[in-house]
Amino acid sequence: MAKKKAKNPVADATAPELDDAAPLLRGTVIKSGGGLYDVDVIGENGHETIVCSLRGILKKGRQIIAQPVSVGDDVAVRPLEATGADARGRRLREGFLIEVLPRRTSLSRARFNKTAQVTMANLDQIVVVMAMREPELNLHRLDRFLILAEASDIGAVICLNKIDFLKKTARKKEIEPVRALYEELGYTVLPVSSETDEGIEEVRAALKDKISAVLGSSGVGKSSLVNAVQPGLHLWVGDVMEIGKGRHTTTDVSLHPLDFGGYLADTPGIKTVSLFERDELDLAQCFPEFAPLSPRCRFNNCRHDSEPGCAVRVAVEEKKIAGSRYDSYQKMLKEDK
Ligand code: GDP
Ligand code: ZN
Repeated sequence: MAKKKAKNPVADATAPELDDAAPLLRGTVIKSGGGLYDVDVIGENGHETIVCSLRGILKKGRQIIAQPVSVGDDVAVRPLEATGADARGRRLREGFLIEVLPRRTSLSRARFNKTAQVTMANLDQIVVVMAMREPELNLHRLDRFLILAEASDIGAVICLNKIDFLKKTARKKEIEPVRALYEELGYTVLPVSSETDEGIEEVRAALKDKISAVLGSSGVGKSSLVNAVQPGLHLWVGDVMEIGKGRHTTTDVSLHPLDFGGYLADTPGIKTVSLFERDELDLAQCFPEFAPLSPRCRFNNCRHDSEPGCAVRVAVEEKKIAGSRYDSYQKMLKEDK
């Protein structure tokens, strides 16, 4: 059944023959290391991991894959024979990585967690987990997480967890203003309880078919939430305590397939997230409600601090910009000095 193999002048004698007639499958790189790439392919029988090497990328002496391959990349692979199963009982095959498809987001790779040297492609969104209680909701911390999304030009979903701690009347009073403020800014806001499963279906809908990274401080319920979304899935969701100028740490990212579609990033070892060499003008750009006002400030390099004729400050005074957001901005501005 095998048709005549094309002569490949660069293939070494011991390499398995690449059958050009075998079908190409499309998948997502979920892990890399030691020159091998785990590629998740969704077929008729669900998820399958194909462990791929780059051997075979040389076709007719021409290098097909020019750029480095990152976790999150969309790729085309050519599988070999079935070779076994992984720990979760999924079929495991070997194959060759043939092509890297164009990236949807490459900014994330360049900027997401620059100092931690995370390389990751196609990150669609971050999921910021905040608790309403234990620990108390802290909007400043939330704003700090959100600038990560803005700086990388990716989306953000805000999960307000532990709503079971709030009495029904308190829920409306406490949740609605937060929801209104952040939805107005373009974020998805989901009140949830990992304890009672309220809102978990909405979280699944927000994650479906996307690549997401879960962030939040210690104790807010990240692990519980991930487990509520997909029972049995235990991610390493590193506590991100600080956002600012980070120390250099190297970290491996891998992706976990979600049964309903999409992937969650496993980001071990991330303690400090620093996305970009932040300068003050960049910071204002990370507040979506400030950006359109900047051109109306008297000075074109206005830092929206104490300059006269600042359109952002006028908007704060007129309550068109939330005071909590402006406070967050000022706090971050001052940390940079
Ligand atoms: P992480 O450090 O962010 O991963 O937080 P964990 O998932 O370990 O949760 C911290 C604590 O909060 C644990 O004791 C959880 O049982 C508890 N917890 C998490 N989510 C909820 C929730 O929605 N409601 C309540 N009442 N407790 C929760
Ligand atoms: Zn200004």
